[in-house]
Amino acid sequence: MRFSFVTLFEGLISSYFEDSILKRALQNNLLSISFYNPRDFTTNKHGKVDDYQAGGGAGLLLFPQPLFDVLDTIKKEHPNAYIIFPTPAGKPFAQIDAKRLALKEHLVFVCGRYEGIDERVIETYADEVFSIGDYVLTGGELASLVMSDAISRNIVGVLGNEDSLSMESFESELLEAPSFSKPPIYANKSVPSEFLKGNHAKITSLKNKMSEFKTKYFRPDLFSRFSVRH
Ligand code: SAM
Repeated sequence: MRFSFVTLFEGLISSYFEDSILKRALQNNLLSISFYNPRDFTTNKHGKVDDYQAGGGAGLLLFPQPLFDVLDTIKKEHPNAYIIFPTPAGKPFAQIDAKRLALKEHLVFVCGRYEGIDERVIETYADEVFSIGDYVLTGGELASLVMSDAISRNIVGVLGNEDSLSMESFESELLEAPSFSKPPIYANKSVPSEFLKGNHAKITSLKNKMSEFKTKYFRPDLFSRFSVRH
């Protein structure tokens, strides 16, 4: 998988790939990353990439020319590039999207800044438009990282143990059951006794029940979808 980020602030993104699982994925050639700065493509003599909004309104927008030129360049170099725009006005990004997008060859994230991106850029180039939640961030870098991180975990080989994916939250429209480690008692709180007896069938059944309770309590919306299907 290749991730390309169109961003004015490469450092915000590159540092995230310098540690842990994503660093190892880069070292093992399961991932590669590249960056395109719209400022390198602007024809504005002052190097500007943002301008006032047509019709008025607070704040500046990334205007079309630099982004059209960056994205044309990427499309020419990589005809299979699949272009994603993070925006609060997008479809909510979910685990199902992370799994689906993990099968693509090359994803390009176009990071907005200021008041966002001129709509004509999105209309022309977007393969998909995603929001990572109902709140507004200062830029698309964090949203792109959230999505690329979630996608990476679903690329074969990126996680040491692929089994860890199968029991995770959202895999079966449920949240993961509460998890415990060692010691069996800590701060006067015990690990559920069944977890310590080694009967794996019973542990699985208990975990399934806990998973349902937890989802019902924290995410009734998910639970009602689960209930319809089961
Ligand atoms: N004026 C825009 C609006 O009200 O929808 C918000 C622009 S925001 C300050 C700047 C950039 O941050 C956006 O273009 C987008 O790239 C990113 N962004 C902010 N919140 C986001 C979210 N919830 N999901 C995805 N991207 C987001």
